[in-house]
Amino acid sequence: MSFFSRFMKFTSSDMAIDLGTANTVVYVRDRGVVLNEPSVVAIETIKGEKRVRAVGNDAKMMMGKTPDTIQAIRPLRDGVIADIDVAEQMIKHFIHKVHGGKARPWRFPEIVICVPSGSTSVERRAIRDAASNAGASQVWLIEEPMAAAIGAGMPVTEPIGSMVVDIGGGTTEVAVLSLRGLAYTTSVRVGGDKMDESIVSFVRRNHNLLIGESTAERIKKEVGTARVPADGEGRTIHVKGRDLVNGVPKEIAITQAQIAEALSEPVGSIVEGVRMALENTAPELAADIVDQGIVMTGGGALLDGLDDVLREETGLPVIVAEDPLTCVALGTGRALEDDAFRGVLQSA
Ligand code: ADP
Ligand code: MG
Repeated sequence: MSFFSRFMKFTSSDMAIDLGTANTVVYVRDRGVVLNEPSVVAIETIKGEKRVRAVGNDAKMMMGKTPDTIQAIRPLRDGVIADIDVAEQMIKHFIHKVHGGKARPWRFPEIVICVPSGSTSVERRAIRDAASNAGASQVWLIEEPMAAAIGAGMPVTEPIGSMVVDIGGGTTEVAVLSLRGLAYTTSVRVGGDKMDESIVSFVRRNHNLLIGESTAERIKKEVGTARVPADGEGRTIHVKGRDLVNGVPKEIAITQAQIAEALSEPVGSIVEGVRMALENTAPELAADIVDQGIVMTGGGALLDGLDDVLREETGLPVIVAEDPLTCVALGTGRALEDDAFRGVLQSA
């Protein structure tokens, strides 16, 4: 590579964007992950006119605490784009934030965006247009399971079957890959959000206490587990919410064993998705998976004991990727940087 072209590459701000249902992660060529924020937009309506009040971290902090005039929206919540205008504003906001106040780039950047595999062609076109409108010279798309597998260092370009289970906020994607392609893929509408909802309804049913989704998410991250602890009840956490009987705020104690019970349904659905994928995998590829194991990515892979449950239920080796929350962005970044992966990019 000549000095000039190296210089051009270095100064360019080519980007890889993991547009997740819960978090958006941006990777910049030769710099790595530079932004990781919730996929949330707070919209304020004043006299019938809507405007963006906050995006990302600032908007997530408002969730469940907004007055009537402000709405905190997750435009990709269930893996499909619920609100394309808001999604577009969010994509543009993050691209501009990464550019910072810096001088104009030498050339307009190339952007690779990782999309949920359940997204329709209309949605894909809308995502591409949003990135183009934000200044991209060329926009490529990559399927999420492919990006996850590349990020986890699986041999996706070889004739070897790899299974990846990406557990995000809105969906769990299970895929078998080989020779740069998806041999099988399924998207289950169960992920971290369903886990949070299950905790909310468990606490309501068993303790007559109403808690918000942010509180449920915190409980899940702190003491959540996919299996009942060996020592019986496990750790205890104190939870605040509103008493459903007399309407006043109160605090209760719940145990890890109770959380495991609350999470058994979403965990069961994830296991079911993996079973289905295994049943639908060609025997030669299945044989490779026996050797290589199943790789878990996405924030949901961090749920304590989920890897053990999958191991017990499938009898296969199960590995949690090194950094599950940024694995997809890393894979998208590598697809941008390394020509060996050009074949997995789609021009939308
Ligand atoms: P997406 O790709 O859909 O944006 P992510 O891969 O960023 O999703 O994962 C987000 C989900 O992971 C959220 O539901 C979040 O609550 C969950 N999560 C993050 N950390 C943990 C943890 N330590 N234990 C369990 N779940 C977690
Ligand atoms: Mg994801």
